Amino acid sequence: MKLSAQWRTASSRYFILAVLVFASAALAVALDYTSFGAQFDKYAYDFLFRLEPPRPWQPSSIILAIDEKALAKYGGRNGIRAALADGLEKIAPAHPRAVAVDIILAERGNDEAGDRQLEQAFANTRNLILASYLLRDGTWNDPLPRFRKHAAYVAQVHSDFDRYDSVSRDLPLATAGGHERRWALAFEAWLIANGLQAEESPDDLSAGGIHIPTTSREAHEIRIRYTPPSMGAFPQVSIADLDANPALASKFAGKVVFVGETVQAAGDSWTTPYSNGRVVPGVEMHANAYETLARHMYLVDASQLSVLLFCFALAITAGLTYAFISGWPANVGAALIILASQLIPAFVFKRFIVWPWLPGTLAATFAITSAAAWRHLIVRRQLFRTEGEKDRYQRAMQFVTHEMRTPLTAIQGSSELISRYAATMPEAKRTQIADLINSETKRLARMIETFLSVERLSAGQMELKQDHFALSEVVDRCAERARPFADRKRIDIVIEPLPSTDLTGDRELMEYAVYNLLTNAVKYSPSETRVRVFGEDIRDDSVRLSIQDQGIGMDKKEVTRIFEKFYRTKRAEQSGEAGTGIGLSIVEQIVTQHGGSIHVESEPGIGSKFSLILKRNQ
Ligand code: ADP
Repeated sequence: MKLSAQWRTASSRYFILAVLVFASAALAVALDYTSFGAQFDKYAYDFLFRLEPPRPWQPSSIILAIDEKALAKYGGRNGIRAALADGLEKIAPAHPRAVAVDIILAERGNDEAGDRQLEQAFANTRNLILASYLLRDGTWNDPLPRFRKHAAYVAQVHSDFDRYDSVSRDLPLATAGGHERRWALAFEAWLIANGLQAEESPDDLSAGGIHIPTTSREAHEIRIRYTPPSMGAFPQVSIADLDANPALASKFAGKVVFVGETVQAAGDSWTTPYSNGRVVPGVEMHANAYETLARHMYLVDASQLSVLLFCFALAITAGLTYAFISGWPANVGAALIILASQLIPAFVFKRFIVWPWLPGTLAATFAITSAAAWRHLIVRRQLFRTEGEKDRYQRAMQFVTHEMRTPLTAIQGSSELISRYAATMPEAKRTQIADLINSETKRLARMIETFLSVERLSAGQMELKQDHFALSEVVDRCAERARPFADRKRIDIVIEPLPSTDLTGDRELMEYAVYNLLTNAVKYSPSETRVRVFGEDIRDDSVRLSIQDQGIGMDKKEVTRIFEKFYRTKRAEQSGEAGTGIGLSIVEQIVTQHGGSIHVESEPGIGSKFSLILKRNQ
């Protein structure tokens, strides 16, 4: 009985821990879906991006830059087309693999000669890709037909940046507008330069049998792997320098060329995870995206399921740590869990997988905090309970030793009298002393028996007999035994007609229980009151026996504690009635061992009602 109760409280404790741990993991995962959570993941991504740069390589693309120098040379923005035409003419002999122009040529220029020159330059350019972008009304802002007709493809130059911090981490490879979906400038440059065709399936993108892992289905986003600072500035040649030194054209041989403005004030500037506040021109971003594609440096997302499982694994490990380990080793365990939550994102980043940083960190932190709090509270409560039990036990022992000493002194004194004065003592006196010894010995034996039975019962060592007996018989016998005691206080024990119910169980123990309730009712009632015993059938299989007094009563808090061993209420102690505080704990054991239960209603100064629900014979 006791064991199963302990098991029950222990399992409810672990149940609470399990709930805390699972809630921690679930909350951590849920928070990662908020924009707040996503932003933290992005900062962590930037950190790892800088921490784990790819090894330097020789870029296969180059920028033909319209920079400040070129603008100065060609007469400002009006000269851009002339500059572009000049630049393309100069690099043509080097036979670049493809030329991607990141300049919008949608309007007529103010210089017809310049436009014509540009048209001519385009006509002489192999694998030319021109730029367009999607207008708000959903139509494409295309290059003028005179330019467009020379282009192998008109790509889109829509770039993406994160709404909250304006950092460009991803690039959509496809953009849909009107009835048309266009590839990104960098992607098309890569396709054309390698003579490939894009192949699209509902959730896949590939070209020439090369799979391109993208992070979104529709837009086919990829993460741009920018060239790390260790590689220095991205290869580029200013059109102004090319004009002054045509030999520079050799740098474009066999390369994919991205042409665009690199003027810092141009507005087409982007922040990257490396740039730390500095910006890179749009054309450089396209060139970097091209490099990502050309070198297959894809950074893909970890699967949501693996992140979820990882969070739960961290939280469960935290729960197990605090459930089974205590003190500093538990804290070392917690530190290791936090460490694991931090190392996994870094570890998998090396394998080109982007693992969200926040959910693991939060799952570990939440689970550790709640499991540690759980442990702290449980340990404290246990300490508190053992202290309280010890205290009550000591008080009870003091009382019991005092109780035992009284009969022992009486026995000792009386037996001495008999042995010393046996010859001279009158017969009547001798019988009186012998009776006293007898009754005191019995009292002692009863006291010891009570102690032993409570211990044996609670340890589950006591076998229940299976007698058949009538409830009214038990009540009558107990009332008979309690009456002399009640008479002394002029308390009336009234037994109302009881249901004729037969019970099965240990009759002696059942008598002990009922007798205890009756004597308590008498003990804790003032004289000239009444104790009522009544009963009724409840449900098909049970009977209720109630013992109601008009005594000192108890408040609600006390009622919850009276079944604890050695507990006595203040009122009971002040009443001057002797007691040990263990009777009721035995009663409860007896009743529950018989498959029944005990209930108490009480009010201070008004009285108490103890009810036993007992199973009757069918
Ligand atoms: P004891 O009577 O030896 O102290 P019990 O275990 O029988 O021990 O009872 C525990 C406590 O419950 C008592 O000390 C008393 O405070 C309270 N109690 C029990 N029965 C009554 C009652 N009928 N009226 C008021 N208080 C009661």
